[in-house]
This record gives sequence, C-alpha cells and structure tokens, in this order.
Amino acid sequence: MNKIEHIGIAVKDLKAANSVYESLLGYEHYKTEEVAGEGVTTSFFKCGESKIELLEATREDSPIAKFIEKRGEGIHHIAFAVDDIIAEKERLKEEGFRVLNEEPKRGADNKWVVFLHPKSAHGVLVELCQEINQK
Ligand code: ZN
Repeated sequence: MNKIEHIGIAVKDLKAANSVYESLLGYEHYKTEEVAGEGVTTSFFKCGESKIELLEATREDSPIAKFIEKRGEGIHHIAFAVDDIIAEKERLKEEGFRVLNEEPKRGADNKWVVFLHPKSAHGVLVELCQEINQK
C-alpha cells in the first residue's frame, strides 16, 4: 500500500455537502463524476497527497443509499493506492481478508478498484485502487 488515496464519505445531498467541504478545505472540488455501475455520483477534493470523495446515491438500491439508511451519513470507506491491484488482492486473501470483488471494477477518477469486506478490517470498508493508465 502506497498511501491513503482518498477517504470516501457517504452524503445525502451532494450539492450541500460540496459547499460544506468547500468551506472546510478552503477551496473547490475538482471534479464530479457519476459511476453508473455503483449507483453513485462522486465529488473529489484534493487534500495534499490524498483526496476526499463525497458519494451520493443515484438510486435506492445503491450501496451508498443502503449505507446511509443503516448508519447515516459519514465515512464510508478508506482507499489505499497500490501499484499492482491483482498482486495486492492475492496477498490480502492469503492474509485472510475477504475480497468483495475478485475482478477489479472501474471506479471513479480513472481507477481500478477492489473492495475488502468491512468485517475483515474492524468495521472499515477498504478500497484498493490502481491508476488505470499505470502498468
Ligand atoms: Zn472510493
């Protein structure tokens, strides 16, 4: 794992949350992106080496909608940057972590992503991400 790439935060209203995080960080987000497969719209803020990803559900069966229903708004996942997502996934499986998707999925912000079950990491949903154009 190289660094914390981003922290994902589940929000009910992306517009309202954008304005709060703009005030908090002191600058604007740099992109909004819909990930149709996950049923979310995301908004990204840079914060030094890392990013903040705000996630709003676009449909009722979105994982973000379910998360908010169960636990309310808040930190949804922590994403770590990796160089080789397949090798890292295999290493973590050997360590006993439960992988949620064997095939890396296309995530927001030009990344391949693999998720680990929160039960594997003391209640934290972990995302591995690798830049798509990186070999
Ligand atoms: Zn993420």
